[in-house]
Amino acid sequence: MLNEFVYCPRLFFYEWVERVFVESVDTVEGSQRHEKLERKADPLPPAGDGDDRPVRSRSVSVASDELKLIAVIDVVEGSGSRVTPVDYKKGRPRDGIDGPEPWDADRIQVGAQALILRANGYECDEAVLYYDGTRQRVRVRIDEQLEADVRAAAAAARSVASRGAIPPPLVDSPKCPRCSLVPVCLPDETAAAARLRELDHAEQLPLFDVAGVSGGDIHQASSDPVRRLVPARDDLRPLYVTGHGLSIGKSGEVLQVRERGKLVQEARVGEISQVNVFGNVQLTAAAVQGLCWADRPIAHFSFGGWFYGLTQGIGLKNVFLRREQFRRSEDGRFALRIARAIVASKIRNQRTLLQRNHIEPPALVLKRMRRLAADAGEAEDLAELLGIEGTAARMYFQEFGGLLKQEDGDGLPPLDLDGRNRRPPRDPVNALLSFAYSLLVKDVTIVCATIGFDPFVGFYHQPRFGRPALALDMMEMFRPLIADSAVLSAINTRMVGRDDFIQAGRAVGLTPSGRKGMIRAYEQRIDTLVTHPLFGYRVSYRRILEIQARLLARVLMGEIVTYPGFETR
Ligand code: SF4
Repeated sequence: MLNEFVYCPRLFFYEWVERVFVESVDTVEGSQRHEKLERKADPLPPAGDGDDRPVRSRSVSVASDELKLIAVIDVVEGSGSRVTPVDYKKGRPRDGIDGPEPWDADRIQVGAQALILRANGYECDEAVLYYDGTRQRVRVRIDEQLEADVRAAAAAARSVASRGAIPPPLVDSPKCPRCSLVPVCLPDETAAAARLRELDHAEQLPLFDVAGVSGGDIHQASSDPVRRLVPARDDLRPLYVTGHGLSIGKSGEVLQVRERGKLVQEARVGEISQVNVFGNVQLTAAAVQGLCWADRPIAHFSFGGWFYGLTQGIGLKNVFLRREQFRRSEDGRFALRIARAIVASKIRNQRTLLQRNHIEPPALVLKRMRRLAADAGEAEDLAELLGIEGTAARMYFQEFGGLLKQEDGDGLPPLDLDGRNRRPPRDPVNALLSFAYSLLVKDVTIVCATIGFDPFVGFYHQPRFGRPALALDMMEMFRPLIADSAVLSAINTRMVGRDDFIQAGRAVGLTPSGRKGMIRAYEQRIDTLVTHPLFGYRVSYRRILEIQARLLARVLMGEIVTYPGFETR
């Protein structure tokens, strides 16, 4: 705990207050090394028993009531009551003027171990750090200065924990690229978004080109470059299982999909990010437990593609964020600020899609949508905002047919003149849109739950039984960019065709092959790399969903003032 606090107080807060841990190669190797040592644990002879025999004990647990500290020491060596704690480190020591030196965090850690040993009656004048990177032992004297530093660090850590407010991220620190929590912490992004405060002279400034402030201006205001410390895209892939009579079992670390007992697909649990099941797919208890244990959510859809639930492990217990989410959702002014940013960005993204892809971009509609986006940024209340969003949506969907590249006779019927229709969709394009929105709400729900939000408490969408209001809020900006674009590419690149639909009465649905084609188009789209307008680096849309949700969490926790909606140029 002290090691983490001295390394970075924010890291300490995440791990010891919010209980957020993220595994990296370094942390996995560290845990394996400690597990190995624990297996060989042997007790430390009690101090003062008069026995002067050599001592070498591994994985020694000691505690001090006076210091209120506990330590698990890799090795304690010495003779009789005179001992030296030895801690193993994977990396290299710091290059000092007169040779290798311990890093500050390591020095405090072994200092605390030595003081706890003293508190238990041992004599301890020095500690040793063994750095595996250079295979060197570095000795640390336990003097008055170190004792004072340990006590000061412990007091500061307790004070930070009891205040309950997360410390700010380190600024441009070389520690961050090595930190396993960097995708959660977003140090540079949080700092850049916090600088939006300087431009926050009007309520509606979250929007990228309202009141004369454009996304470009905001990017300029972030004078320091934002390092892309998060991976550009996930290494893990979602697994989709669609079809009646299938079952998912688990053998060792491998999921096995069977059709009437016959193995049809295998996937290693460690290589998938989520499991999506459509219709009557049976999951064995071993598969559900294994996925929960590995933190891989299972998303449940009806056979027709309606998203109706998630199964996941205990996940994050970030009560601080949820507490703020509930509190802020009751604050009408705050909710309106977030809702304005979301709706204005959505309208701008719809407009961009029309401008870029319409066969004959409708100038009047584009002009009116630009005006509506600006109006959204100034809406007086949620009712007005809903009206603006509805007007923009009608215009957009009336023009949606112009985005489809169909050839006579081989494509799909155009959209109804009414534009968007649903529950049930009455034409193939609307069937595709409904399915794509189901996939998107599923992904945003997973992101919200992963971060520690309650997906059902939103700021724009109002609470209603069974409605993931926050997920619906967060997906608004991405409907045109991910879902609508995926539908366009499914149609325009012939991933789905005329035979991929079935009609029952007035309802139109997708056949299994149509669903597969749409899933393929959706996954391609969400995996597409795109430049973040505020941070200037390229990451996948899936990654951006998470970054945007984490930025909202920063706004709720008071770390940044202005929520930056996501807009493509
Ligand atoms: S990424 Fe940097 S600021 Fe964030 S917790 Fe890690 S070390 Fe601290």
